[in-house]
Amino acid sequence: SADTGVLLSVEAVSKQFRGLRALDEVTLTVHHGEIRGVVGPNGSGKTTLFNVISGFYRATAGSVSFAGSDTTTARPYTLSLAGLARTFQNLRLFGQLTVRENILVALDRTRAHTIWQYAVWQPGVLARERGLRAQADEILERYGLVDFAEADPSSLPYGIQRRIEIARAMAARPRLLLLDEPAAGLNGEEVQQLIRIVRSIRDSGTTVVLIEHNMGLVMSLCEKITVLSSGRVIAEGTPQEVVSAPEVIEAYLGD
Ligand code: ADP
Repeated sequence: SADTGVLLSVEAVSKQFRGLRALDEVTLTVHHGEIRGVVGPNGSGKTTLFNVISGFYRATAGSVSFAGSDTTTARPYTLSLAGLARTFQNLRLFGQLTVRENILVALDRTRAHTIWQYAVWQPGVLARERGLRAQADEILERYGLVDFAEADPSSLPYGIQRRIEIARAMAARPRLLLLDEPAAGLNGEEVQQLIRIVRSIRDSGTTVVLIEHNMGLVMSLCEKITVLSSGRVIAEGTPQEVVSAPEVIEAYLGD
């Protein structure tokens, strides 16, 4: 993948749910350093595509490769270790844990360790925990969450909770971040902040694919947009190219 610059390749993927073909031979290639937008009317297969890419669903046909490996049948946990992170349409933060602990859990998951490390006191463990804490603080700082470090996420405004979710996904330093409707429920100022955050994530070396309904956000963030309708890719190109494509106008008028 280093030679071709391709990070994610979805080839002729179909996903069938009983009588419904949610994805119909979808092909999509994402290069390192892209911010790709995936748009389409409700029910067009956007979230299903994310679920197939991230291993939550298995494709009925076709193949997926990520970071140079065939990941068509890979499980979510394996993909996460390989550098794929995602957020969900509905928030999935851990209750009972503070904001800092949510980040710490994500950092901890990125390192292999055994029960032995917890069962037996070792001089290395304390140093390691101090290291994790410093990293968590750095992430809290980077995402403007320092003031909320000790808070219960569910007590915080919705926009902040969404930011925590992105910070947690980024704690694993993923190669690819999938964002499922990151602007949903955000106010105008929060959307502007999100745009800055996504740009800085890309600038730090993580490729981003985002599903979004907010066309303003997609238009200003993405160099390239893929449009789905009824499980098929009906257009792909720059924001200017896709908004003027007759297939796209028709699909949205029918929504
Ligand atoms: P979008 O994200 O574009 O709104 P989805 O990918 O959520 O679309 O859904 C595409 C189609 O697949 C919809 O008709 C939806 O009802 C169906 N679908 C999604 N997930 C499942 C599932 N687990 N079982 C059955 N049908 C599903």
